[in-house]
Amino acid sequence: MRILNVLKITIGIMLLSGNAASAQDGDPAETEVWAPEPAVVTPGDNGGPPSDAIVLFDGGSLEAWEHPDGSDVTWTVENGAMTVKANPEWGAGDIRTRQGFGDVQLHVEWMASPDDKDDSQGRSNSGVFLMGLYEVQVLDSYDNRTYSNGQAASIYKQHIPLVNAMRPPGQWQVYDIVFRAPTFGDDGELASAATVTVFHNGVLVQDHVEIQGPTVYIGEPSYRAHADRLPIVLQDHGDRVSYRNIWVRELD
Ligand code: MG
Repeated sequence: MRILNVLKITIGIMLLSGNAASAQDGDPAETEVWAPEPAVVTPGDNGGPPSDAIVLFDGGSLEAWEHPDGSDVTWTVENGAMTVKANPEWGAGDIRTRQGFGDVQLHVEWMASPDDKDDSQGRSNSGVFLMGLYEVQVLDSYDNRTYSNGQAASIYKQHIPLVNAMRPPGQWQVYDIVFRAPTFGDDGELASAATVTVFHNGVLVQDHVEIQGPTVYIGEPSYRAHADRLPIVLQDHGDRVSYRNIWVRELD
């Protein structure tokens, strides 16, 4: 009976608002916008790349990547993932995309090693550096306290994540990142700061925050003019962190 009453009221409100709309003067077509028509994109399944994405790593080839000196990547590739070489064979170094990117939507899956018993910044540390300069921190922050602006999904030393959405080590984590590159005037001065939005395992952790400058370990960040497109870098911090299913969509 109560449900019936709620239904009656709901229908009543719908009818009222319908009447209100039809009582307006003018042509509704005047506010219809038909151009441009958004391009058709076929979405991916289970975090897979949409049809307009550039696949950076699909579990096999490392062709899209290089070490910063231009040499071929020597990270380990097995079981559909690429993994930083940890102690005692570490030192392979960071890797970067051969292609440069500016504004992007970036999907990255990563996994912290369950065998890493170090703590704070020492546990499965890596990082996703947008334009090779602006770090979204990768760290095992599952039951591992460190400084808040240095935990997983922080914009390292700049922005604390809104929440800690970590899965335990040994499980795959997902970052979905929307990054807008900074712009610079002809005089080399900053015209607009970079911004970034990050979802960690589907949970909003960075909400369109303004980046203060390239990531620095010590001191305050400050911008310096750089190219419109620069490689995306994955950090070798000497910890056995794995990556898979990496794709990017250019937004500019
Ligand atoms: Mg890092």
